[in-house]
Amino acid sequence: MVIDAKLSEGYVVLCDKRAEMHSFLIVSFGLSVECPHCGATEIATDLVTDFYLSDRAAA
Ligand SMILES: [Zn+2]
Repeated sequence: MVIDAKLSEGYVVLCDKRAEMHSFLIVSFGLSVECPHCGATEIATDLVTDFYLSDRAAA
């Protein structure tokens, strides 16, 4: 999973855990993020760290 973008209402997360892309909006992060489409989970801090180290956050 990766954060694709930050919007005013939350973060857009892309999930590719099941060989198909799911996207969903996270309004606030808990300890982990769960994909509402397939149930895959990811550690929230890993997603946020990856996002802010990438150039997606600067766009
Ligand atoms: Zn998913």
